[in-house]
Amino acid sequence: MLAERQSFVTHLECSMTGDRCEADQVHGLSRVGRPLLVRYDLAALAAHLDRDALERRDTDLWRWRELLPVRQTRDIVSLGEIETPLVPLPRAGGSNVLVKDEGRLPTGSFKARGLVMAVSMAKALGVTRIAMPTNGNAGAALAAYATRCGIKTVVFCPDDTPEINVREIALQGARVWRVNGLIDDCGAIVAEGAKQGRWYDVSTLKEPYRIEGKKTMGLELAAQFGWRLPDAIFYPTGGGTGLIGMWKAFDELEALGWIGPERPKMFAVQAAGCAPIVKAFDDGVEHAERWENAETIAAGIRVPRAVGDFLILRAVRESGGKALAVGDDAIERAVVQAAKQDGLLLCPEGGATLAAYHDALAAGLVGKSDRVVLFNCATGLKYPMPDDSRTLDRHAPIDFDAL
Ligand SMILES: *Cc1c(COP(=O)(O)O)cnc(C)c1O
Repeated sequence: MLAERQSFVTHLECSMTGDRCEADQVHGLSRVGRPLLVRYDLAALAAHLDRDALERRDTDLWRWRELLPVRQTRDIVSLGEIETPLVPLPRAGGSNVLVKDEGRLPTGSFKARGLVMAVSMAKALGVTRIAMPTNGNAGAALAAYATRCGIKTVVFCPDDTPEINVREIALQGARVWRVNGLIDDCGAIVAEGAKQGRWYDVSTLKEPYRIEGKKTMGLELAAQFGWRLPDAIFYPTGGGTGLIGMWKAFDELEALGWIGPERPKMFAVQAAGCAPIVKAFDDGVEHAERWENAETIAAGIRVPRAVGDFLILRAVRESGGKALAVGDDAIERAVVQAAKQDGLLLCPEGGATLAAYHDALAAGLVGKSDRVVLFNCATGLKYPMPDDSRTLDRHAPIDFDAL
């Protein structure tokens, strides 16, 4: 299964200044307060592994191990990170629209990709306590992986976080606190505790390894598309880890000679009630302002401020894509449409990508023949569903024609 040489990490690098830091030490943000990116010896990797050898491996997340930061097999804290399928959406989307269904990952969301990496690295580096702010899914993934390897976790979420998330976090072994504020208010508490040395802060992009885990979405897409990337990707963007990670993955694959220079148009999808990246994109600026009074049913993208804003905006602009906002009504309609027409239950954030795709098609930003990937980031089963049931009295005569 897993070979001895696990990783080709050389060092870490500030995403803003390019400043180098040593690998194999506990890091947070860079000296200037921006995300750190993991760098690899891609030339050595290319000599060690080729595409064909990779394709002969099992299709799980760990097939990419040389492009991931965990050096020793014994540090991998796994709950079964499968490659997620691309599910066609022929009626609700169209004949070239595929949904990358991330709801099938452990803990029911793609947060598992990021947290399996962050926790495995924390374990490798001897971390014993972790804290994070969450809108739900990240906390659940953290709790599960950390508990599995004996790391203690404290999780802070906005007090209106969906009940199912709060309960799964607690049941999977974390101490969970409901806070009367938004995710960045929770983040401030985590940062303060970290400053006091109480725990390691694994907030989105504030440690280097969640991006590496999320990067596997881009690696998988390349392999699933036969090493020719799709024409457009619609990604529901909160902190933007996945979008930044995929963009990084494509560069690494090109450096390995496994894909060419073509890139998908990246569409960062946000909710109209919390769209800081869309505003910054439209304003033509490099950093986003905090979005006040953020509100949307798509909790996973209710992120008023993102530390990696400039990285998201850079990727979207370089790709020739766009940042798009969709209203909660359109999100709800899209969820119903995909479920009723194609039998695929999306989470609200996934619904947002379908709604944004329809808008982009109408605006001519993508064409009908473009190969499009929509991200469904979590299982639709974690979210409230409309009640459309009827009751039947089995003791009364049944009108079978009316059933
Ligand atoms: C976290 C989350 C997102 C946003 O992902 P980022 O990579 O942080 O932008 C979208 N949808 C769901 C369901 C999430 O849990």
